[in-house]
Amino acid sequence: MDRTKCLVIGSGPAGYTAAIYASRANLSPILIEGMQPGGQLTQTTVIENFPGFPNGITGPELMDNMRQQAVNVGADVRSGVVTDVDFEVAPYKVTLDDGNVIEADTVIIATGAAAKYLGLSDEVKYQGMGVSACATCDGFFYRKKVVAVVGGGDTACEEANYLASLASKVYLIVRKPFLRASKAMQDRTLNNPKIEVLFEHNAEGLFGEDGVEGVHLVKRLGQPDEEHYDLAIDGFFLAIGHKPNSDIFKKYLKTDETGYFVSTDGSGVKTVVPGVFVAGDVADSRYRQAINAAASGCRAAMEAEHYLTNK
Ligand code: NDP
Repeated sequence: MDRTKCLVIGSGPAGYTAAIYASRANLSPILIEGMQPGGQLTQTTVIENFPGFPNGITGPELMDNMRQQAVNVGADVRSGVVTDVDFEVAPYKVTLDDGNVIEADTVIIATGAAAKYLGLSDEVKYQGMGVSACATCDGFFYRKKVVAVVGGGDTACEEANYLASLASKVYLIVRKPFLRASKAMQDRTLNNPKIEVLFEHNAEGLFGEDGVEGVHLVKRLGQPDEEHYDLAIDGFFLAIGHKPNSDIFKKYLKTDETGYFVSTDGSGVKTVVPGVFVAGDVADSRYRQAINAAASGCRAAMEAEHYLTNK
C-alpha cells in the first residue's frame, strides 16, 4: 500500500496546480488523473482568457503543460479512477479502480464538474465544431454569427446575454413556457433586442457539413399542435446545468442541494474533515473558470501544508 503526505484527486487546473504547490512544499504528492485526464479543458478549442498566453493556447496543450510542470517539480502523476474513500481516521484511505489503496495524510479533491448535455448523438458529432457548453470559453468564435443557447436558468440567460454582446443573434431554446432564471436576469434577457426566446421548444438534432449549420427544433412537444422545423445557426450552446463529481465523497463532506462541496470557512477549500480539502469546479457552482480553479488548487495545497506543519 502506497503512503503519501498529500493525495490530489483530479487532473484539471485545480488538481495540477495543487500538485505543483504541494510538490514545491516537499509534500511529494501523488495525483490521480481520473476518468478524463486533463479535465473539461481538454474538450475546448482555443483558450484566450487564461493569462500568460497572449496568442491563446489550446485546451489540451494548456493541460499538457500543467501536467508536465507538475511532473517536473516532482509530482507522481498516475492514471486511475478513485472508486471509494475512507475519511474516518487519518491516514485517509483512497481506493482506486485497479484495487490499489493509497494512504494519505491530506487529500485534495479536485474532481471537477461535468456540463450536462441533452444526450443527442449530434452533440458528440459536432463537439468542438459548433457545440459548446461554455459561452465564456468559446463565445468569441461566434462574433457576428447566429447562435442558440439551450436552457432557461440563470446560466442560460447569463450566457445568452454574454453571447449577445458578440453574436449578431441569439436564440434561447427554453422547454417550458417560462424562464426559471431570477427576475432581474429574466428582464435583462427578455429586453435584449438581440435575444429571441423560443419558449416551449426542444432541440431534437443538429445538421451541417463540416460543423453546425442548424438545429432541428420541435415546438410544443407532445401537444396537438406540435410543430417541427429547422433553424439556421452557427453555434449551439448548452446551459442546462452542471453536475459536480462529488458523489463518492458525500458520506463524509458537506455539499449543497446540487452536490457542490460547501467549505467550512472563508478559504473556500477547507472541509469538515481535517486534512481533506476541496478545490476547483467541484466546489464552485458560480465562477467555473480555469483560472479560479487553479487559484483554489493553490489555496488547497497551502492549507494542506499548514495542516501538516501544525500537526
Ligand atoms: P438550473 O438548474 O437553474 O437551470 C437549468 C435550466 O436548464 C432550466 O431552465 C431547465 O429547464 C433547463 N433544462 C434542464 N435539463 C434540460 C433538458 N434536458 N432539456 C431542456 N432544458 C433543460 O441551472 P443553472 O446552471 O442555470 O443554475 C444553477 C444554479 O446556479 C442556480 O441556482 C442559479 O440560480 C445559479 N446561478 C446564478 C447566477 C447568478 O446569480 N448570476 C449565474 C448562474 C447560475 P426547466 O426549468 O424546465 O427545468
